Amino acid sequence: MLENIRIILVNTSHTGNIGSTARAMKTMGLSNLYLVDPVKEPDGQASALAAGAGDVLANAKIVSTLEEAVKDCGLVVGTSARSRTHSWPMLGPRDCGEKLVQEVANYPVALVFGRENSGLTNEELQQCHFHMCIPANPEYSSLNLAAAVQTLCYEIRMAYLSRESYPSIEEEYPLNEDLERFYVHLESTLEQTSFIRKSHPGVVMTKLRRLFNRARPESQELNILRGILASIDKSVQHNMLGDKEIESVQVEDTE
Ligand code: SAH
Repeated sequence: MLENIRIILVNTSHTGNIGSTARAMKTMGLSNLYLVDPVKEPDGQASALAAGAGDVLANAKIVSTLEEAVKDCGLVVGTSARSRTHSWPMLGPRDCGEKLVQEVANYPVALVFGRENSGLTNEELQQCHFHMCIPANPEYSSLNLAAAVQTLCYEIRMAYLSRESYPSIEEEYPLNEDLERFYVHLESTLEQTSFIRKSHPGVVMTKLRRLFNRARPESQELNILRGILASIDKSVQHNMLGDKEIESVQVEDTE
């Protein structure tokens, strides 16, 4: 169960932090480490700080984008030392541990950590269902990366040890790659209807991502939304071309 809770470090600069993260994870029973585009791949410094968690380090998966690291996850939580992300659905550390443990029974889940100097980008944060901020000293709230990982892994462990006390979840949520496919479709439909312009997309897609994230559509609901988009696409094409012209385009396509 805990092996399906993925700890993801994005674009980490210091290999020592990667090693300390592996140790923080193993002490709490976690083993699934992803490194998104690390500035330097794990080296001797990482191994030294990993100590007895060399196996977690050795099994770490290196991928080039966050999208790739979370595509098969049904729940993704992004962490931030700052409150700038409060416009997104927020979780506290305790709720975060409980939610990850509750949902990991259904699909892989992920907890995402940012760069030492600048955290996660807005685009990366928008790929997360929830944001999580450790309510640290407001005058100095930025924990060392591996210390933040340790704090959250501890919460996950506490939730895991008392997992019998939570109800299991009944809802079937889509995986991140299905949600991303929906956003691509939504954007293309809104371009076709001229609601947004390709050259000036503005903030509409960000606002819509926020809206759908808040609603957290279940798999069946997402299918209905995709069906609605497909019906709009069809009707726009008919309006633009007329039935006959569509037929001729289809004939040309098959030639
Ligand atoms: N200067 C950066 C801080 C980066 S700290 C910024 O302002 O965003 C490196 C990473 O550690 C963060 O991206 C986050 O993943 C984690 N982290 C540090 N402090 C945290 C806190 N108080 N709550 C949640 N995550 C924190």
